[in-house]
Amino acid sequence: MSSQPPNLILFGPQGSGKGTQAKLLVDKYHYHSIGTGDLMRSYATHKDALGRKIRSLINHGELVPDKIIESIFSHEVTKIPADQPIVFDGYPRNLNQAHFLDTLLVKLERPLPVALYLNLPRAVVFERLASRYVCSECGTIVRSLPSLLRQLVCPKCGTSVAMRKDDKPEVIETRLNLFYSQTFLLVDHYKKLNRLTEINGEATIEQVQTVIATALHLPPSI
Ligand code: ADP
Repeated sequence: MSSQPPNLILFGPQGSGKGTQAKLLVDKYHYHSIGTGDLMRSYATHKDALGRKIRSLINHGELVPDKIIESIFSHEVTKIPADQPIVFDGYPRNLNQAHFLDTLLVKLERPLPVALYLNLPRAVVFERLASRYVCSECGTIVRSLPSLLRQLVCPKCGTSVAMRKDDKPEVIETRLNLFYSQTFLLVDHYKKLNRLTEINGEATIEQVQTVIATALHLPPSI
């Protein structure tokens, strides 16, 4: 194994902890993270037609069409120096995107990524998303029951926290259906390519982190 940590795809159902683990890989192992959810949310704030289209798709829990996300995504990848490892959070989400990613990395002469599947039962997804609040300033995730929310501010920066617009039950249902009909096919895809590791997403953040570090042969911390 080379000394550089491998490029890495984190995928799993909503609330499985992809974003949290990606952030830890950035903080502890100097990964660059490309989170297409955050990227799309930032485009959704633009006042042009593309911004409006993306905003509407996100709020309804639909995927942004492959062609739109491809150019935005490629641009992000090419910005990262070739010798830096990347963690892909939220991309690919279907087989077409998986092929696109491999083709792009080959073209850029970068190592193909390994894939980590964070598995989480459907019922737990609903439970987690129903108690998930996000800091509007720094993106920190806070978990709480709605009745306790009045006292809730971000533990990191003190800003108030809010629920994501797409964390409403009916929108969660659409997002999860898309996950199981499209993204879940990636489990078999990467298994066949011998590039898949499956992880129990119900374990604690620290436990998942340790399993990831072990699977990737990363030192306890850099
Ligand atoms: P989720 O919790 O559903 O995984 P994300 O924060 O990763 O949410 O993504 C939010 C939204 O951004 C998605 O519902 C979708 O509209 C859009 N999006 C993110 N990544 C992709 C992608 N790879 N392909 C298409 N749409 C995407």
